[in-house]
Amino acid sequence: MTTLGNLTVITGPSGVGKGTIVRKILESHNDVWLSISATTRQPRTGEIEGEHYFFLEKKKFKEIIDKDGFLEWATFSNNFYGTPKKIVKEKINKGINVLLEIELEGARQIRRSFPEAFQIFLAPPNLTELERRIRGRATETEQAIQDRLAIAKNELIAKKEFDAVVINKDIEKAFEEIEGLMKLKN
Ligand code: 5GP
Repeated sequence: MTTLGNLTVITGPSGVGKGTIVRKILESHNDVWLSISATTRQPRTGEIEGEHYFFLEKKKFKEIIDKDGFLEWATFSNNFYGTPKKIVKEKINKGINVLLEIELEGARQIRRSFPEAFQIFLAPPNLTELERRIRGRATETEQAIQDRLAIAKNELIAKKEFDAVVINKDIEKAFEEIEGLMKLKN
């Protein structure tokens, strides 16, 4: 019998550096697979369909919800985001380690449906630094930046719910800490 793959969830406020850390994990470990989420938000410049997200119309997203096709889904800043269920289950059953990079509500759903998942909260050193990073990314409108900062304040309160909290002060150190927590071999 194949051993099941581990499911690891990385959560943390928008702009905290989840994407950068996840990319580093994928570059260094070939036994980890990142789930590609579906979203109804518009692609940012440079984002590729099927690589960064599956960009869907709201109608299509809702059809998938109705068919119970998401492992979890949530709304974030007026858009839907969800993790495709079938492929994630297939990967885990094949013994592949699966990584989800999702927001707080989704992480909470996974905690209920998949209690064995290991949940990591990536936190910024402080809110001023988070704002600087979101603004530095220069991909959002002022309204979207304000929305994301308001959501971040709430998300930070929830960090104590997590198996581990990693502070992203130094990206290299945060990456190594997460690598250790995931107990990766390859
Ligand atoms: P962004 O619009 O910046 O790509 O993502 C916004 C937020 O949605 C981020 O916190 C990101 O981690 C989260 N997110 C991305 N995919 C999913 C998903 O499949 N489910 C949930 N619940 N959140 C997601």
